Amino acid sequence: MALKVCKFGGTSMADGNVMKSVKKIILSDPSRKYIVVSAPGKRFSGDIKVTDLLYACYDELKRTGNCLSSFAKVRTRFEGIVRELNLDMDMTAILDETYRRMTEEQTEDFTASRGEYLAARVMAVLLGATFIDSEDVIFFSENGRLNSEKTFRCIARAVEGLDMVVFPGFYGRDVHNKVKTFSRGGSDITGAIVARAVNASMYENWTDVSGFLACDPRIVDNPRHIKTLSYKELFELSYMGANVLHADSIYPVRRANIPIVIKNTFRPEDEGTSIIPMSQYKPEGNVVTGIAGKKNFTVILIEKTHMNSEVGFVRRVLSVLERENIPIEHIPSGIDTMSVVFDSKYAEDYRLEKVIEGIKNEVEPDVIRVMENVALIATVGHGMSSSIGTSARLFKAMAQANINAKLIDQGSSELNIIVGVKNEDCEKCISAIYHEFFS
Ligand code: ASP
Repeated sequence: MALKVCKFGGTSMADGNVMKSVKKIILSDPSRKYIVVSAPGKRFSGDIKVTDLLYACYDELKRTGNCLSSFAKVRTRFEGIVRELNLDMDMTAILDETYRRMTEEQTEDFTASRGEYLAARVMAVLLGATFIDSEDVIFFSENGRLNSEKTFRCIARAVEGLDMVVFPGFYGRDVHNKVKTFSRGGSDITGAIVARAVNASMYENWTDVSGFLACDPRIVDNPRHIKTLSYKELFELSYMGANVLHADSIYPVRRANIPIVIKNTFRPEDEGTSIIPMSQYKPEGNVVTGIAGKKNFTVILIEKTHMNSEVGFVRRVLSVLERENIPIEHIPSGIDTMSVVFDSKYAEDYRLEKVIEGIKNEVEPDVIRVMENVALIATVGHGMSSSIGTSARLFKAMAQANINAKLIDQGSSELNIIVGVKNEDCEKCISAIYHEFFS
């Protein structure tokens, strides 16, 4: 039988009422057997997500040794949910035990992970399903990365013989036996891990939007809906700021060719967006699939005559950044010039100065300059490789909107064109490119 893993995001868990709709969705398809949940999210604009309440608990815990006052808000949220759902469970005892462990563990990751833990406990009772704690089946290696082999094996073994299972998203256990979380939004990754471990036929990711749009709807009114994306396109768009799905969710499912479908809990009849392997991908006829942007990058520009003939030049420049532990996003280059682009969070004054000094010593450039507050905009689509003139159209649209491209990088797969612009031109640039290709 086809088996689906369904992950429900924070807004799908926000209160008892929405959770009743979630139950209906799950029970309407007998292949929906493995459920992964996030912590309850915002119920209305201005509300606070449970995970953020828990980070506040940790702050209080650190300052005072307890977090009674911050935890009271978490308690109220969950007691309210259980009351609304009229469930026969002793939530007070579960919350007391959770609080006790939080004060005993005293770590940020453990505290933050409790939203998912508690939500999964409630969901399991609501569905009459088995609760499996992710700390018992998801493992990290010494280097902080997922220990995939052990994790897939343990999940597969844990679900054997069980009908329906609920897992909390967002966390696992590290080599020191401590709970460790993924980065924010990481329940998406848990869903993908479970999908791979049980060899699911599909990974459904239920959220509060009906899939991906060709660009951010806060920038362009009513942008076009994307029906299908390849894994690669999804990765590019998610990485560059389209925050429907955590970019790292691709890795576990990609190898097993498990499709991901983004669905809307509040409009379950909507088609959503399917993310599929390239082998099954049928282009929808658009040159561009989507456009996404991210602000706050730092660019170091280096010029040196005859740089191209100096063997090892690029390696020596990069070794300086490596020494400072700075991950690099892009390296656009010309004959006598190269630029290195990285996230500005790594460009604190002292580190940037060290990098500049280091590059001067290593390669003695003619010119070295730093550009800050740069936004990167990715225009993504498999259709771009087969149509001539895509970049000409893109740059014409930017020129007409009076936007200066500070850097340009085209991926070797011709799947994307990245342009760097001033932070303040980011939205204007996305809108100009969108209208060029979609209007
Ligand atoms: N609750 C966590 C967060 O807010 C993880 C998730 O929702 O996926 O980031």
